[in-house]
Amino acid sequence: MTAVPTVDTGAHATGNSLGRATTRSVDDLAAFGGVPLFSTPRSASNLVQPPADTVLGYCDVSLAAHRYTNNGPLVQELEARLARFHETRHCVAVANAFWGLVLAMRALALPGRAEIVLPSLTYRRMGDVAWWAGLIPRFCDVDPATLAPSAATMAACINDDTALLLAVHPIVNCCEVEPIEQLAQTSGLPLLVDGVESCYERLRSRKVGGFGNAEVFSLHASKLINGFEGGYVTTSNDDLAGRLRLMRGFGFNGPDNVEMLGFNSKLNEIHAAMALACLDGLDEQVAANRRRYLTYVDALHTIPGADLLRFDEAQQPSYKNIVVELGAPWPLSRDDTLRILHAEGILARAYYSPALHQRPTSYPARWGDLPVTEQLTGRYMLLPSGARVTTDDIVVIGALLDLLARSGERISRRLAS
Ligand SMILES: *Cc1c(COP(=O)(O)O)cnc(C)c1O
Repeated sequence: MTAVPTVDTGAHATGNSLGRATTRSVDDLAAFGGVPLFSTPRSASNLVQPPADTVLGYCDVSLAAHRYTNNGPLVQELEARLARFHETRHCVAVANAFWGLVLAMRALALPGRAEIVLPSLTYRRMGDVAWWAGLIPRFCDVDPATLAPSAATMAACINDDTALLLAVHPIVNCCEVEPIEQLAQTSGLPLLVDGVESCYERLRSRKVGGFGNAEVFSLHASKLINGFEGGYVTTSNDDLAGRLRLMRGFGFNGPDNVEMLGFNSKLNEIHAAMALACLDGLDEQVAANRRRYLTYVDALHTIPGADLLRFDEAQQPSYKNIVVELGAPWPLSRDDTLRILHAEGILARAYYSPALHQRPTSYPARWGDLPVTEQLTGRYMLLPSGARVTTDDIVVIGALLDLLARSGERISRRLAS
């Protein structure tokens, strides 16, 4: 019988929890009535928290200036630092990536055309974003090597009604954006990039942030840079940056002068303070992510059928997201695997599943054959990672997956009965 260490994850469940490990078997699984491995669930959300003193130190700046929002000093400092970080001329901070994407889509879409080409295997709400921008999503397939759209999969979706291309980085490694930039150029289409999950990365000599006409990023608490909520758009196009700034603040250009149709998606000073404090500790965070990732590599490399997606070190990864591909001889369905993990307090998630074209929407959406997406969407799961997960937790998670790999048939039978 395979044994899995159990940890007491009470109030202070970090550090030496493995020291309190006891053995565990199929009968002890929480799905079958046993005590969960983690009493405090471990999630795949980053939830990195900078030191309170650092956050409050930044807040003092805007409080002393009596500036709370409307492009205050901290938002300006954040934009300057992020523009340097991404090696672009401009960074325009916004309330979240969702509205940053809507803004950028509205600013970039060719007038008089209806469709935006975007992958189906991507962020769950991306079709909604397109619709809020007044565009009809046309879903493209992905390249199985990158899990991202390629120039070929996007080119297959371009027609006379295409207004815009949206390339999205997957959550491990990067989308190959350069051939898509060439496609955009030869087809005369604007290209927007969702760089949310690759904000730290580099593609050969170029930093993510500088691709396409503009790129969009998130400062949500679950992402690499935590601003509680927030987002930003990077571009090196002066005119585009100017329009985005107008649009995010009601379209105002000077008092009572509404220059264009805008909405309110400004970032406020408190969010900027949190994001700045987080930027201060970014390299340390990535080093800690790398330690967690290497612990996963070590814990999973002997488990048949559970293949960890490896980061491409050449892309300067943030090592934040841990994705596992389940395939033969893994003995359980992904859904059953998730059921068992959830019962243990391991909040693993299905990776981009179902794909966007497989979900009902309240708006029109279009697509052709998406064979790769349909094949891949059932295979991957996202494991707990980020600032709240310790390397001991990862050893425990690895031991549980090892038990599942060895005892899958027994577990399946018990789940069925
Ligand atoms: C989280 C996420 C978004 C949305 O970010 P918000 O700031 O929460 O609106 C967009 N795209 C991708 C790829 C994401 O992962």
